Amino acid sequence: MRYSEHADSRAATVAVIGAGASGTLAATYVLRAAATARVALRIALIDRWGQHGLGRAYATAHPAHLLNSPVDRMSAVADDAGHLARWAEANGIRHDGFLSRADFGRYLRELLADAERMAAPTATVARITSDVVGLTCSGSGRPLRLHLADHGRIDADAAVLATGNQPPAAPFPVPASPRYICDPWMPGALDGVADGSPVVVLGSGLTMLDVAVSLTGAHPQTVVHAVSRHGLLPRVHQAPSCRAVQLPVLPARDHSPAGLPALIRSVRVAAAEDPAGWQAVVDALRPHIPGLWQQLSLPDKRLFLRHVARYWEVHRHRVPPATARKIDQLRAAGRLSVQRGRIIEVAEKPAALCVRIEHDGQVTEVAAGWLINATGPAADITGTADPLLRGLLDSGQARPDPLRLGIEVDAGGALLDASGTPSDIIFALGPPLRGQLYETTAIPEIRDQAAVLARRLLAASLGQAAAGRA
Ligand SMILES: Cc1cc2nc3c(=O)[nH]c(=O)nc-3n(C[C@H](O)[C@H](O)[C@H](O)COP(=O)(O)OP(=O)(O)OC[C@H]3O[C@@H](n4cnc5c(N)ncnc54)[C@H](O)[C@@H]3O)c2cc1C
Repeated sequence: MRYSEHADSRAATVAVIGAGASGTLAATYVLRAAATARVALRIALIDRWGQHGLGRAYATAHPAHLLNSPVDRMSAVADDAGHLARWAEANGIRHDGFLSRADFGRYLRELLADAERMAAPTATVARITSDVVGLTCSGSGRPLRLHLADHGRIDADAAVLATGNQPPAAPFPVPASPRYICDPWMPGALDGVADGSPVVVLGSGLTMLDVAVSLTGAHPQTVVHAVSRHGLLPRVHQAPSCRAVQLPVLPARDHSPAGLPALIRSVRVAAAEDPAGWQAVVDALRPHIPGLWQQLSLPDKRLFLRHVARYWEVHRHRVPPATARKIDQLRAAGRLSVQRGRIIEVAEKPAALCVRIEHDGQVTEVAAGWLINATGPAADITGTADPLLRGLLDSGQARPDPLRLGIEVDAGGALLDASGTPSDIIFALGPPLRGQLYETTAIPEIRDQAAVLARRLLAASLGQAAAGRA
């Protein structure tokens, strides 16, 4: 039965677009709020890949794809840091402090199912597999209409964009070849790649490491060449330091801008006090990043993105020791190389790609079976080809943040339109807020945003539904 056939239901309807970690946690927290308030509510949780509860990060079944944060920092329950560790213990999952991403996906799905049971029968969630290609005023009793790729529609009282990161963009022209994989996290993207031919991966971050582990494990002859401008690999997690950390620069009480040079200087000083304990400094700073980011001037933010971000990322997004050991083994066996350089040209040959790499004026050529883009999300949302985001931006329902990394919301997550007015009924959370908050893509931030957003979503949808009935 199509979801729209329920349209005459009197219950308020919340549409959650995207069912990765952000959409799943938004739905979970809204269900909990509805159960507490004992109100009737329907949630339509819509995902184009049907990866409800998993999304790009947690849909992997590979046992060596681990969370890059320890179990005590990945609880999806606000104010209960031990929740995930207890869940793992109760489910007999053995680990060394880092769970597999597949287990974490199971955890998210169970969390949603628990909230569903708690809220039933008055509040319910429908998991829908479809692509939302547009969001307009409905003209029906409800204010919003979601247009689906299969010509279906869902009318809703409120909606939340939980659409995740933009796919990567190629920084050079690429041939229209199936041998170029533009997004390794698309379902099935790597299925044909492990044929034993050499693979060039653009990027040397966490995604490259996952790709290298998967492909070398799937075929004994596969060799991976990672290429990135700086050739920097993510650092390795160490045991937590017991040292009390003096935070470098906290947001000033008067909200005067901290300034990027001052901030960098004080982080360096704090880290230099105990060179073995720099990880504690980075971790202590992390919850303050959104506040500090918002105080930086636009030129300082641009400077950070251009010159500092890659160094911050490799220290902030660290790998578990087990992953680091695996990577060391692959490099020692000659099955993974990491090269500084810039891909300047890719030409298609029969059954191969010729990849030309420039470094310090020298050009080398690699004959590769495959080229995989692991550079992370595209840096300019205004170039998006996604029909939903394109439509929201073009119609002025949404506006890009000044850095164009994502879209803008108010302090409570409501979408700002082209004139800067917050919507009463459209919200967003997680990676689309990267330009505004910078730290907004990992579970702790997404969890806290979802918990706060839930109350506002519930109030907005109930208010609209009541107005529609009046
Ligand atoms: C490989 C990887 C590993 C990671 N590991 C960690 C980690 O260990 N710890 C941590 O804290 N964070 C980690 N992260 C960060 C991660 O981004 C977040 O934890 C989280 O998974 C982001 O979830 P999301 O729902 O916002 O995005 P996604 O997981 O990308 O989900 C968005 C979903 O929305 C759907 N969608 C988008 N547009 C539409 C549309 N128009 N219609 C219908 N559906 C749509 C997509 O199909 C997708 O399923 C990792 C990220 C990646 C990519």
